Amino acid sequence: MALITKKIKVTEDVLPKQSYRWQFVENIMREEAAKFGFREMRTPVFEHTELFQRGVGDTTDVVQKEMYTFDTKGGESVTLRPEGTAGAARAVLEHSLTNEGLPIKAYYFTSCYRYEKPQAGRLREFHQFGIEEYGTSSPAADAEVIALADSIFKRLQIQNLHLEINSIGCPECRAKYNDALKEFFGAHEEELCGNCKSRLERNPMRLIDCKVPSCAEIAKGAPSILDYLCEECESHFEQVKKYLETAKIEYRVNPKIVRGLDYYTKTVFEFVSDAIGSQGTVCGGGRYDGLIEELGGQHLPSLGYAMGLERLLMVMENQGIAIPEPEPCALYIAGLGDNAQVKAFELINSVRLAGLSAETDVVGRGLRAQMKYADKIGARFSMVIGDNELEENKAEVKNMTTGEKTALALDDSFAESFSALHIADKFGKTE
Ligand code: ATP
Ligand code: MG
Repeated sequence: MALITKKIKVTEDVLPKQSYRWQFVENIMREEAAKFGFREMRTPVFEHTELFQRGVGDTTDVVQKEMYTFDTKGGESVTLRPEGTAGAARAVLEHSLTNEGLPIKAYYFTSCYRYEKPQAGRLREFHQFGIEEYGTSSPAADAEVIALADSIFKRLQIQNLHLEINSIGCPECRAKYNDALKEFFGAHEEELCGNCKSRLERNPMRLIDCKVPSCAEIAKGAPSILDYLCEECESHFEQVKKYLETAKIEYRVNPKIVRGLDYYTKTVFEFVSDAIGSQGTVCGGGRYDGLIEELGGQHLPSLGYAMGLERLLMVMENQGIAIPEPEPCALYIAGLGDNAQVKAFELINSVRLAGLSAETDVVGRGLRAQMKYADKIGARFSMVIGDNELEENKAEVKNMTTGEKTALALDDSFAESFSALHIADKFGKTE
């Protein structure tokens, strides 16, 4: 019969033999986030469409072109989250987390959905690890969240990842800068792509970020936001840099970084790799002091970022960074005959309860095929039980590496005796 269906284009499956790579990276992220005082938050995969229109901004590519939006049977418009911050901010407001003390420090792992053009490093379902910090305007917080990203990358041993930072100011300095941009790009209007033409009036800063080569060429000569910062924004930016230097985190100021989403203010930053081609941004974020107000809350200066897990794993793969493989099965017990098979089932269960991994046949294979399977899964020890072993209530456990055999009683002491054997073997190897 033909396959019933295939996966949706530009999405990816993570198969059992690859998932340890994800888990390794995710575990390090959880550990580092905990060190910095962040706790996990989980929000729904879909939200009211309006949340993203207001939170992400309706002049952005994400909202204008990339969202998966649909009407429910009840007639509501809902959208699969294209990013994690809007949902996190909504939850902060909905649960009045501000009453529990500031700052609110949270991290998330999310799947995100964007209808993107198929390209290396651009998926329609992708995954992010993100950091959110609400209720602080201090430049120390900017440096803290960046330091967390930096320490994750260091623990993952990623090379040649460059931190690029910029300040895009507050609405006050931005107004003057937008005027300058309108004047500059206005003089090139004929040469701009259709999208940029339409954004020129409403959101000229987006033009700096346009990926169309001819627009990118024009944007090279555009005025720099750093010449338009008000005193407060400039001083904030200077202090962020000072904190980063104190933490010995290298950075480069790149006035071209404006970020793709509307909610950013002041500090914006990206970690960029040259190991995976043109989609080299593995982490992007910044401050969004106006976001909570935009969503109907009180003024609550906040910041955060997200890392693309697929891109991060691509960088690690391209750099040949070794990820420890999962421990192989500690014990495989093959059973010969129905009674022995039941005994095998009982014994592996006791070994599992004692905290080790163990397997036996659940397919109905013969002895040879079972031993082949034990080899295939790389079992450290194996054991065969048949009628003789059942009668003597004793069987030999074989160390699959050294060939050494040890007789163990098949009674209540089995799991404990096997654990001791396993520890001795492991200890001997690492000595
Ligand atoms: P880009 O400039 O690459 O389009 P973006 O500004 O749209 O990125 P953000 O919304 O800031 O990206 O998302 C943060 C991170 O999520 C990115 O730096 C990237 O690593 C990852 N990411 C974004 N879009 C995709 C996608 N379509 N497929 C895979 N990863 C993505
Ligand atoms: Mg994008």
